[in-house]
Amino acid sequence: MRLAVPLDCNCSDCKKPFLRYRNRGSMTICTPCQRAARVRAWKAAHPERARAINAKSREANRDNDRASKRKWQIANRAIEAAKQAKRRAAKLQATPQWADEGVTKSLYQLARIYTDAFNEEFHVDHIFPLQSDTVCGLHWHGNLQILTGTENRMKSNRTEGNP
Ligand SMILES: [Zn+2]
Repeated sequence: MRLAVPLDCNCSDCKKPFLRYRNRGSMTICTPCQRAARVRAWKAAHPERARAINAKSREANRDNDRASKRKWQIANRAIEAAKQAKRRAAKLQATPQWADEGVTKSLYQLARIYTDAFNEEFHVDHIFPLQSDTVCGLHWHGNLQILTGTENRMKSNRTEGNP
């Protein structure tokens, strides 16, 4: 049995250092470059199949991109909505000490997830509005509910109509 003795050398292709073993003495390119060369050779020999594989992986990547973009949008819009509500409540000094920001944020996330899943707008609504003529609600999870856009509009019309 011969021991594999590593030799430091640089790949003749990518120029990166790699360990060459004495018992594979003639090798001057690294394993990744060898593999790449083999793939290149195969593609040159089978251009039609190579094109088909390329098209397929492009399509798969496109779907992945779309899905992750959508996920990011949902997350981002929820964060924006939660921030906006927080700023508004801070302005009105309506955030009590016992408000749990984590729970509040997850309600905004849930509303975005519903919006995406049911293809209909869902809003986070203050059960007692932060600002109204009769009562001022607080910005905390106990005063929040998720409504559809339609329900939310009906509610605000009612509040405006008979305060
Ligand atoms: Zn290399």
